Amino acid sequence: LLEADCRVMEYTYDEDLEELCPVCGDKVSGYHYGLLTCESCKGFFKRTVQNNKRYTCAENQECKIDKTQRKRCPFCRFQKCLSVGMRLEDRPTEKHLLPHQKNDAFFTC
Ligand SMILES: [Zn+2]
Ligand SMILES: [Zn+2]
Repeated sequence: LLEADCRVMEYTYDEDLEELCPVCGDKVSGYHYGLLTCESCKGFFKRTVQNNKRYTCAENQECKIDKTQRKRCPFCRFQKCLSVGMRLEDRPTEKHLLPHQKNDAFFTC
């Protein structure tokens, strides 16, 4: 039985894309916003930032984010995106902005 389990695991292991998304565990599609993530989290992060979306968590802000549950709580998903190191790549001039133009509240809520 154990041997069979091993074989199943090896069989389902993807051989050319061994990296898993640090946010949800899905297969990565490439480097997005500073690190390897899946296509779904890339799109999610992009939409969130571009549309300046604000989410709230219905639970304790510690929802488990994985491939099947990643859509359940965008708040926790975005927090996880930030915590694993996703960041905007095309805002090198941010530090030259005046303080009131910065978007700190967005990242600290
Ligand atoms: Zn992902
Ligand atoms: Zn949550």
